[in-house]
Amino acid sequence: MTELIPPHLSAPLAAVDRTYACENCGCSPAAPMTFRGHRGMIIVMQFLKNKGVYCRDCGLAVFRTMTSRTLVQGWWGWASFIITPFILLYNLFGRLKLNKLATPVPAPEGWAGAPWSPGRPVYQRPTIVGALVPLAVVGVFVYAAATGGDSSKVGQCIRATTGDSVLFVDCDTANDGVVTKVVDDEDQCPSDSIGTVEEFHESRYGGSKITDDYLCIGTSEQV
Ligand SMILES: [Zn+2]
Repeated sequence: MTELIPPHLSAPLAAVDRTYACENCGCSPAAPMTFRGHRGMIIVMQFLKNKGVYCRDCGLAVFRTMTSRTLVQGWWGWASFIITPFILLYNLFGRLKLNKLATPVPAPEGWAGAPWSPGRPVYQRPTIVGALVPLAVVGVFVYAAATGGDSSKVGQCIRATTGDSVLFVDCDTANDGVVTKVVDDEDQCPSDSIGTVEEFHESRYGGSKITDDYLCIGTSEQV
């Protein structure tokens, strides 16, 4: 009687590349690799590095741990905010290297331990919310640019006070006009404007006046 051997067992085992052995579990194939992490702490920052010879599973565990932590801890600081994407990109290249490694096989001498469990993919961990931090920051800037900052003043009424300043007042009360438009240059005000209000701030250095915006003033019913 002939024994039926399942095809996956009858195929000759591919020779295991034993050039390197994983420094954590002793399995092969393995390869030298480096994964990085970053921790921003407003003023100071920390660059983390894990360099070693790892098999596919141990390498994946290191990649996922370093990357997940960086997603949450990386963004906190001006420089860190810029550095973190590069750290994440660096790790992605290391991750691609892992794809080329076959399933870890224990060393023939039998001393090999079990590889680390790679755990859940980065995108399935709660730390993935950290990826929203840069999106949120960029979103705030885009929103501020799109809404033009001060355009919310359109429709508000002004009242001249002593000196050369104005007060924003309720349009139902006595006022000197309504803001019709916020522009960068006085010339951009509508032709029927009755005046402009210059908004400025003092330069931090020379104390000189820097114009931010001009408010075009039109007639209001209560004038
Ligand atoms: Zn390993």
